Amino acid sequence: MIQITTPLNFLGSVYRNIRQGLTDMGEMHDLLEQRPEVQDKPDATPLQVTGGHVTFRDVRFHYMPERPILKGISLDVAPGQTVALVGPSGSGKSTIGRLMFRFYDVTGGGVEIDGQDLRDVTQSSLHAAIGVVPQDTVLFNDSVGYNIAYARPQATRDEVIAAAKAARIHDFIESLPEGYDTQVGERGLKLSGGEKQRVGIARTILKNPPILLLDEATSALDTQTERDIQASLAEAGQGRTVITIAHRLSTIVDADQIVVMEAGEIVERGRHEALLAKGGRYARMWARQSAEIEREDGAQS
Ligand code: ADP
Ligand code: MG
Repeated sequence: MIQITTPLNFLGSVYRNIRQGLTDMGEMHDLLEQRPEVQDKPDATPLQVTGGHVTFRDVRFHYMPERPILKGISLDVAPGQTVALVGPSGSGKSTIGRLMFRFYDVTGGGVEIDGQDLRDVTQSSLHAAIGVVPQDTVLFNDSVGYNIAYARPQATRDEVIAAAKAARIHDFIESLPEGYDTQVGERGLKLSGGEKQRVGIARTILKNPPILLLDEATSALDTQTERDIQASLAEAGQGRTVITIAHRLSTIVDADQIVVMEAGEIVERGRHEALLAKGGRYARMWARQSAEIEREDGAQS
């Protein structure tokens, strides 16, 4: 590897981006095709979503046996609630998302949605129930309308427009030379990170899943764009169970439950105010990020 990577060092960041892209949950559908170890049971039944109650019961997980990643995670997300996972990089937040999507099977404990163990239901029904807003929305070389409707190809034009409005991207699309028929992607109009993200949110709103999984959906964006996106995400989360993996704590102050992860364990949980009052890890993370945001805002004005 060293002989190869040294001369091609300049490709390092490209490689890292590709790798990041592959771990992105937006790519999961493609990757799942190549995951023979996760298979439907012969008697698997479709997931029956009654309210979107998500339960992790003492979940243990490793990618490699010699390195435990999740060390007994218990979570209870009531229908319609928002839970936010926070914690340092590598603490296991995205892994929780991957297990909820059954990208992997747990190695101990269990994950249930509305009382049904994920190992007992068909993967297609599970994936239909969960909407994922990935860190980086992938656009196809097609019209912006197609890119939104992709999640539900039989959607009417009116439904596509309603989703775009909810994601606060409709006015932007209308301002494009050919509106919803404008070609986007690598061979068409290049959208900014924030615009792409909102197309991704519109796609998810149109899919109308009872459960939403957001993995650091806004971490790549500047503060202002992020604030705009937050409004779209809040709209998307209406009436759904939301599991959000948050990078910026300012986006999750209203979460019903904030779960602080560290090295594969939950070290604190509660609502924002309670965790601040506790003066522990969350409070320290909050103080640090508040100072950063103040600096950024100062630099922007
Ligand atoms: P977070 O989202 O909190 O940053 P992750 O859930 O992505 O953390 O990762 C938790 C740990 O699992 C990290 O140490 C990471 O290196 C490891 N990990 C993640 N994905 C894989 C994988 N596919 N194979 C092996 N280890 C992995
Ligand atoms: Mg992550």
